[in-house]
Amino acid sequence: MMKAGEAPIGGENFIVLSDEDLRQFECQRCGGCCLIRGAVRVSESEMAQMAEYLRISVAEFCERCTIKIPLTDREIVILRDHPGTTRCMFLDEHSLCVIHPVKPRQCRQFPLGWRDPSSFFYCVGLQRLHQINVGANDNSLP
Ligand code: SF4
Ligand code: SF4
Repeated sequence: MMKAGEAPIGGENFIVLSDEDLRQFECQRCGGCCLIRGAVRVSESEMAQMAEYLRISVAEFCERCTIKIPLTDREIVILRDHPGTTRCMFLDEHSLCVIHPVKPRQCRQFPLGWRDPSSFFYCVGLQRLHQINVGANDNSLP
């Protein structure tokens, strides 16, 4: 998943995790990062890869799977959600990504490459890491 929430990507984390902490991260496959309100940006090369994986043309992929968002100085392309939801259209009923081998960089890099303060609310893997981190540093524990 990895969707970017409303907080900016690369913003300061209110929970500080060391590189050592992050090395212990294990995805819990909760699907939270693919369910939150947010946007997964995709590049042209990523769209071509995903279209090839799905065995459809790039034009069809763009039409069926993406939305163009005009900004003041440029246009970005994001993945669609299931209609009427904030659930990424590629998240299946088992909370698995159906395009996993070719999912966009934004998804592949979460949460080790980027995360924001809101990530700790929905990412079970980060929550577990934080519990481990707190436990390891809490000298008040017997
Ligand atoms: S493309 Fe896959 S990993 Fe990325 S948000 Fe959608 S379901 Fe999640
Ligand atoms: S544990 Fe985190 S990275 Fe893994 S699916 Fe859940 S929210 Fe996404």
